[in-house]
Amino acid sequence: MPGKVCSSCGKLTDKYVEFKCPNCAKSDIVRCYHSRETFMHYKCSVCEFEGP
Ligand SMILES: [Zn+2]
Ligand SMILES: [Zn+2]
Repeated sequence: MPGKVCSSCGKLTDKYVEFKCPNCAKSDIVRCYHSRETFMHYKCSVCEFEGP
């Protein structure tokens, strides 16, 4: 299983949640469990929206 790169911390992870950018819905945001638990911010690669 290759996993995905977390949008918050940039690490490769196979435990993550994935969702569309709430602002533009064009990119998939990937967040590993660690980043989710520590409330790391993510940044959309398409519209540069930043969210908690
Ligand atoms: Zn992460
Ligand atoms: Zn976006």
